[in-house]
Amino acid sequence: MDLFEYQAKALFGKHDVPTTPGRVADTAEEAEKIAAEIGKPVVVKAQVKVGGRGKAGGVKLADDPAEAKKHAEDILGLDIKGHVVKRLLVAEASDIAEEYYISFLLDRANRNYLAMCSVEGGVEIEQVAEETPDRLARINIDPTVGVDEAKAREIAAAGHLPEEVLDAAAVTIAKLYEVFIAEDATLVEVNPLVRTPDDQILALDGKVTLDENAEFRHKESFEDFSDAGTTDPLELKAKENDLNYVKLDGQVGIIGNGAGLVMSTLDVVAYAGEQYGVGPANFLDIGGGASAEVMANGLDVILGDEQVKSVFVNVFGGITACDAVANGIVKALEILGDEANKPLVVRLDGNNVEEGRKILADANHPLVTLAENMDSGADKAAELASK
Ligand code: GDP
Ligand code: MN
Repeated sequence: MDLFEYQAKALFGKHDVPTTPGRVADTAEEAEKIAAEIGKPVVVKAQVKVGGRGKAGGVKLADDPAEAKKHAEDILGLDIKGHVVKRLLVAEASDIAEEYYISFLLDRANRNYLAMCSVEGGVEIEQVAEETPDRLARINIDPTVGVDEAKAREIAAAGHLPEEVLDAAAVTIAKLYEVFIAEDATLVEVNPLVRTPDDQILALDGKVTLDENAEFRHKESFEDFSDAGTTDPLELKAKENDLNYVKLDGQVGIIGNGAGLVMSTLDVVAYAGEQYGVGPANFLDIGGGASAEVMANGLDVILGDEQVKSVFVNVFGGITACDAVANGIVKALEILGDEANKPLVVRLDGNNVEEGRKILADANHPLVTLAENMDSGADKAAELASK
C-alpha cells in the first residue's frame, strides 16, 4: 500500500526521523488556520500519490496565513497527472542549503535490500541515474546485519554527501532504515533529504510503500492509512470477506481457485472476448477451500458490479474436489436467491469431475451453463456478456 506524504511523515515521527511539523487540511480555511497556529512561513503541499508535485504547482511557500489560504485555494482541486488534490499538508517551511536523496527498497531481482543515496537530490532521481549514474550510490544491505549509524555514514559518504554533514545524515538515515524494517515497508524514499543552513538533516518529503503481506502485523497502520474514499467499493466489500479481488473494466465476471488459474482465465477470456467486444471484469481467486459460503461471497461481489453481464466460474478440483465446489455453487445460488441474476458458465475439471458435473446437471439451475473445457467456457461466457 502506497502512503500519502503526510502518512509517511507520521511513521517518520514515530521513529524520530527529523522532519518539519505540520498538519493536514481539507479546505483553504483550515490551511489558513494551521498556518496561523504554526506562526511562521509555511509550505502548502498537495497530498496525492504521485511524484513531481512541485513542478506541477502543487508545492508552494507562504509567508503568512493569508498567503497560505490563497495557495490552498489554488492547489485544492488541481489535477496532478490524473490525481485530483483533495487534501493538503501545511508544514513549517524549512530553509534549504542543499537537497539530497536517500531510499531503502526491496531489491527483488537480487533478493536483497538496497540503499540508494545521492548528493543530487530534489530533482528527478531517474535523471541522475541516467545522466550521472556515478552520483547515485547503490549499496546492498544485508538484512541480517541491518544499518547502524556506521553503515548509514558509509551510505551517505558513498552518495557524496559533504563531510561536514555525514554524522548528522547518518543519524537520520539509520532512523529511516528503522522505519523500513519496523513498519515492514518495501520502499522508504526521501527526496529531498535537506541540509539546512545550520547543518541539520531533515526529511522534507516522504514516500513509503507498506508490504500488504505484513498487514496482520500492522492492523492499526493499515486501518488508519487505507482511505475508503479512493478504494473501489467492490474491492472494499471483497476485502471484508477476505477475498482476493481486483476490479477490471470488462463485462465477464471471473471466479477461479488459485491465482495462476485465475490469471490464465483472464487471458483466455480476454482472447475469446475480442470477437464480441468484451473482456474480463475482475480477478477473483477464491483459494483452495471453495466452500459454499466463499463461493456465495465471491458471486455476491461480482454480481454487484453493474458492468458484469455474465460470470465464468473456472475451477480445477484438487484437495477441494469438484463435487464439493459444485455443491458450493448450488448452495451459493440458493443463498443469493434473486440477487443471482446473470448467466453463469461453469467449467469444472480435476478431482471428482464427473460427480461435480452431475450435481450441477441435476440442479438444472436456469442461469447455469456447463462448459466442456476452459476455452469453450470462456467463449460461451464472452458471447453471453455481449448480448
Ligand atoms: P515532489 O515535487 O512531489 O517531490 O514534492 P517535494 O515535497 O519534494 O517538494 C518539491 C520541492 O519543493 C523540493 O525539492 C523543495 O525544493 C521545495 N520545498 C519543499 N518543502 C520546502 C520547504 O519547507 N522549504 C523550501 N524552501 N522549499 C521546500
Ligand atoms: Mn520529492
